[in-house]
Amino acid sequence: MSIWKIPLFTPDFTEEDIQSAMAPIRDGWLTMGERTLEFEKTFADQVGSGYAFAVSSGTAAIHLALACAGVAPGDEVLVPSLTFVACANTILALGAKPVFVDCDGEQDWTFSPQDFLKKITEKSRAIMVVHYAGFPCRMEEIMLVAREHGLAVIEDCAHALFSSRRGRQCGTFGDAAAFSFFSNKNMTTGEGGMAVVHQESYADRLRKLRSHGMTALTLDRHQGRAISYDVVEPGYNYRIDEIRSALGLSQLKRLPENLQRRREIYQCYNRHLGNVEEIVIPFLDRNDDEVGYHIYPILLRDSAMRESLIHNMKNDGVQTSIHYPAIHRFSAYRDFTAQADCPWTETISDGELTLPFYPQMTEDDVKQVCESLKKGIQAVRG
Ligand SMILES: *Cc1c(COP(=O)(O)O)cnc(C)c1O
Repeated sequence: MSIWKIPLFTPDFTEEDIQSAMAPIRDGWLTMGERTLEFEKTFADQVGSGYAFAVSSGTAAIHLALACAGVAPGDEVLVPSLTFVACANTILALGAKPVFVDCDGEQDWTFSPQDFLKKITEKSRAIMVVHYAGFPCRMEEIMLVAREHGLAVIEDCAHALFSSRRGRQCGTFGDAAAFSFFSNKNMTTGEGGMAVVHQESYADRLRKLRSHGMTALTLDRHQGRAISYDVVEPGYNYRIDEIRSALGLSQLKRLPENLQRRREIYQCYNRHLGNVEEIVIPFLDRNDDEVGYHIYPILLRDSAMRESLIHNMKNDGVQTSIHYPAIHRFSAYRDFTAQADCPWTETISDGELTLPFYPQMTEDDVKQVCESLKKGIQAVRG
C-alpha cells in the first residue's frame, strides 16, 4: 500500500509483460539466450546504432562504456555534477578523476559547452554527457570541441530513450551510450541496462568485459559452438537474464505510446504552472517533438521554501523528489567540492523540485499536484 495519493512515478505493467517475463522460467534457459539477443537487436534497430549489449544495470553500461573508451588511472573525465552519482562513481572506480562541468543556465540544465571547453586539460580523456530529463545536450557544439581535443564521448541516456536532436537520436552522437531500465525509468526491467556502441573495436571489448573477459559465452558452449575459452583481460559479470530481456522486449513495444502520453502530461503541467511567478520551468524553448520526457522538474526561485513545500505537498498525498543533489557536494566527493566551480548546478540543485510524472496520470491528477504546489507556496510565503 502506498502512503501517496499521487506518487512520484509508478511502473506500467500489462498482462503481456507478466506473461513475457514468465516464459523463460517455463523454457528453462535463464541467462543470455535468444531473448537477450532479440532484445539487443530490436533495441539497436530502434536507436539506430550498430551494436547494443543488454547488461545488468545502467551503471554497468556506463562503467563498460568508460572502460571501452580506455579511461584509466591518471585520466580526467568531464562530467556534469547535476546527475545521478553513478556517473562519477564509475569514473572513480576506474582510477580516473571526475572534472565537474556546470549546467548551461537557468533555462538549459544540460552540459555547458562553454564550461566544458574551459575545463579541458592535458589529462582529459573522455566526456560524459547526460541528456537531463530527456532534453538532449547541445551535441553539435559538444562533439566539435570533443573531436578537436581527441576526447571520447559517452552519452548517459538513462533519461533519454527515443529523444533526438535535429533528427538524430540520443545515443548515436558519441562513441558509446548507456541506457537504464531501473524501476523508475521510461521502460523498466526492474534492474537492467543497455550499452550502445558504434565501432567494432568498442563492441569487441564490451562483449568480453561484460562476461569476465571470456572469449565465449555459456550459450556458445551449450550450442556446441565452443568447447573452451580464453580470458583476454579481467572483466566483470554485468550480464542480464532472459526474464528481464523478455520483460524489456515487451516494455519496449509500448514505449512510443507511453512517450506520447508523457508528452501530453508535460504540456498539461506547463499550462497549469505557466503563470506561477515563484517557479522557473526549464527548457521551454526546446522543440517538443524531439523530447522523450522522463521527469517534470521545476526550479523554485526561493530555494529556502523547498523543505516546507515538500512537507506541505506530502500532507496532500503528493510525492516529490530532487534531481539532483550536486555530486561535488557529497561527502565522498569532498576533495572536489571547492574546485568544482559549478555555480548554476548549485543554484539548481538547491531549488529544484521534481513533480509526479508517469503515463497513467490523468489530467485531474496533474491539476491536483499543481493545486497542492500553489497552495503550498502560498502557505510557505505566509
Ligand atoms: C538511473 C540513472 C543511472 C543509473 O542507472 P541504474 O540502472 O540505476 O544503474 C545513471 N544515470 C542517470 C542519469 C540515471 O537516471
